[in-house]
Amino acid sequence: MLDILIHGAQLIDGTGAAARRANVGVRGDRIAAVGELTDAEAGQRIDASGLVVCPGFVDIHNHAHAEAEGGITTMPQADNMVRQGVTTLVAGNCGGSRWPIDEHLAEVEQLEIRQNYATFIGHSTVRGKALRGKRAADPEALEQMCRLIVKGVEQGAMGVSTGLPNSSASTNELIEVARAAARAGGIYASHIRDEGEKLLEAVDEAIQIARQAEAPVQISHLKTYGSSTWPKIDTLEQMLYKAADEGLPVTADRYPYTRCFTGIRALARDAASRLLGKKDRTAAETRELLAAIRRRIDFTGGPEHTTLAPLTPAPELDGRTLADYSRDQGLSPAEAVLQLTERGGVSAIYDVMCEANLHRILALPMVMVSSDGHLRIPGRGVSHPRNYGTFPRVLGKYVREEGVVPLGEAVKKMTSMPAEKLKLRDRGVVRQGAFADLVILDPRTVTDRATFEDSHRYPVGIEYVIVNGGVAVAAGETAAGCFGRVLRRH
Ligand SMILES: [Zn+2]
Repeated sequence: MLDILIHGAQLIDGTGAAARRANVGVRGDRIAAVGELTDAEAGQRIDASGLVVCPGFVDIHNHAHAEAEGGITTMPQADNMVRQGVTTLVAGNCGGSRWPIDEHLAEVEQLEIRQNYATFIGHSTVRGKALRGKRAADPEALEQMCRLIVKGVEQGAMGVSTGLPNSSASTNELIEVARAAARAGGIYASHIRDEGEKLLEAVDEAIQIARQAEAPVQISHLKTYGSSTWPKIDTLEQMLYKAADEGLPVTADRYPYTRCFTGIRALARDAASRLLGKKDRTAAETRELLAAIRRRIDFTGGPEHTTLAPLTPAPELDGRTLADYSRDQGLSPAEAVLQLTERGGVSAIYDVMCEANLHRILALPMVMVSSDGHLRIPGRGVSHPRNYGTFPRVLGKYVREEGVVPLGEAVKKMTSMPAEKLKLRDRGVVRQGAFADLVILDPRTVTDRATFEDSHRYPVGIEYVIVNGGVAVAAGETAAGCFGRVLRRH
């Protein structure tokens, strides 16, 4: 006898194969059978006529560990993710993670989590421990860093993540770090050094690292940042195809929006970054600092293209553009950035990407879908809509409405591609014996509803989400059970 029988649906199995009519039977935490199953008895029958059943989504680039914004240990239920159909969260990205890995995973294991949880080791996190105040990584510090990374992967991390803007790590250091992660069985995921002016150089560095370290590489949230970078899309595509032709395991992920979300520090790069940390700045240095910030604001499209988005409500900042805020304060936009940074910073949304390139990046065969999101308390603070809408937005806007990617291909980018990259066994596909991580969606209606103006809104059309055989979303609403597990590399 089956626990659950899903009948009447079109099956999209996650491999990229075309949809076919098949019923899916679940017993315990696994898929017991796929096929006609006409005589099967089941404890629960889900009539999925007119709907699609597919694997649960694996969000390979997520910040669910990040406590400041409400991480997994403070909000293990993570409704904003499960309601999108995410059944596995992969946290610890962009160079920052919790540490030690074994303690963190043991802590999460004690919680009632709604979806599966895995993490990378943040390179910046272990770098700080290995450097112990030193400015550069000498051979001894580098060796220590690599030891920590191997240890972290052995304790179950998926590999190492880097956050390279403003990092002083050399390419050589990164090769060693990637090699250590790969030898232990993990991957190298990278928020590359520059997504704007030096995008192509940064992608080239990531490809070099794959080649020299013999490491699987994931380029995180691939984008062309700033209008002067947009025309580089042709070369970017050629580089990725060339790496693939060479047999290098270089893949990437992307969220389906043209605005990004990060700290206001993103406007204080390079020279500005160096001078910001300097005590007793001279007047000339402050001028240089402001000039560098001004250049970056211009590169980002001007102060009206940056919207302040504090994580905790702050009326003088909430939803104000940098242009509005600097006017309110009687400061120049660069002075306002300096003031906000010195007060501890604030997050902001930057309108820096273009729709045409988003289409092209999403359609690339080596690109997966990721949210780059955080766990959020519904209704609290300004949020990037990707936290609620990433996967349904791809399925609604980019698959059904605009035809950028066929449905089967889009599902593959959300399921088997990330699962294979991370070697998550028996996940990311619908087949007999695999874990019962499943989504039942309505292909006619599925779409996001969260916007930049009204960001805390659940999507529509994600009817059921099943995690390890337990029902986490039923008839479009959050269900009571928590069936997520910690996923370890080994
Ligand atoms: Zn990042």
